[in-house]
Amino acid sequence: MKENDVTKFYQNRLKFETFEFWKKRLNVVELDKGNWQNSTCTCAKFQKEYVCKHVVGIAAVNELYRIPDTAKTELIGRKGKKGRPRKTKKALIVA
Ligand SMILES: [Zn+2]
Repeated sequence: MKENDVTKFYQNRLKFETFEFWKKRLNVVELDKGNWQNSTCTCAKFQKEYVCKHVVGIAAVNELYRIPDTAKTELIGRKGKKGRPRKTKKALIVA
């Protein structure tokens, strides 16, 4: 495999795992495909901050939002981080 393929493989794997992970969660994300930032979630964090990793995760799974490499570790497995995901970074992909 070329280096590019490895990256792709990793990204697909990550996406799949993220999806499987979120599928098992009870939080209900309603995805707005037109603008993922309008999506809603039932979890406590969303109720408070109007954004949560579920929404970002679902958006990423649906390729509405590309997770920056630097954010991956924050999205997966890190709890209690203060502040929002960088909402201003608009790496939107029109599906
Ligand atoms: Zn949520």
